[in-house]
Amino acid sequence: MMSDSQRFPHDHSSRLVDVSNLSVNYGQTTALEGASFHLCPREFVAIIGPNGAGKSTLLKAMLGLVAFRGTVQFAQNLQPKPTEQIAYVPQARALDWAFPLTVWDVVMMARVRQIGWLRRASQVDREIVIHALERADLMDLRTRSIHDLSGGQRQRALLARMMAREAKLLFLDEPFHGVDTPTQNRILELLEAERQAGKGILMVTHDLEAARNWCSHILLVNQTVIASGKPEKVYTPENIARTFSRGAS
Ligand code: ADP
Repeated sequence: MMSDSQRFPHDHSSRLVDVSNLSVNYGQTTALEGASFHLCPREFVAIIGPNGAGKSTLLKAMLGLVAFRGTVQFAQNLQPKPTEQIAYVPQARALDWAFPLTVWDVVMMARVRQIGWLRRASQVDREIVIHALERADLMDLRTRSIHDLSGGQRQRALLARMMAREAKLLFLDEPFHGVDTPTQNRILELLEAERQAGKGILMVTHDLEAARNWCSHILLVNQTVIASGKPEKVYTPENIARTFSRGAS
């Protein structure tokens, strides 16, 4: 049987999002210049690069959170509000964990967009939240204040919230920050299950080995896209040197 790519060699309609010539400045600082790549369903992409390379900025531009030049074209089936089809897990250290919320509250927040602020959560919403908590091994901690969670438990709470969104695109910014190896592996297993369910995933990480072992594609970034593709193609000494050496881009 022919694969889709053989039948439709030039068909771009299967792409969830197409980023072309994306540039972002913060005042005098150029964070990104001419970045291009695309993401398809069932792709789990690691975004890798040094600190200050523009990795977070890339996610934020695609989410419409920062102004950019260039184009971010989402698939037709994600219209008319494509950014609402993205579940975004920001850096845990950028969030306020002193806020008086339980684990249950945080995960239920994922359903607010569907429920609306003024209506009560339905039984379906509650079942979706319970399922996400179970997958993240957090049912026992559901009434705990988020303030009292460990680093790994916080990342799992954010992951449960992401899964409860039931979005087609998943963006994660350093989901392994502050977690031990078993938790990191659990997070990667959950993301792989999401990929198999047809999601497109973009994940900023500093863990090159985990990316090689788990991700279908790698995006090397240093102010622009240095290289993109399958790990074995992208992880060349030249590409790594261009990504991580000073002034490489
Ligand atoms: P990374 O995620 O790869 O560490 P960022 O996207 O956070 O990189 O940042 C890229 C560049 O843009 C850095 O030089 C950073 O200092 C700068 N930058 C990021 N956010 C802002 C901001 N809100 N205001 C000004 N400069 C910023």
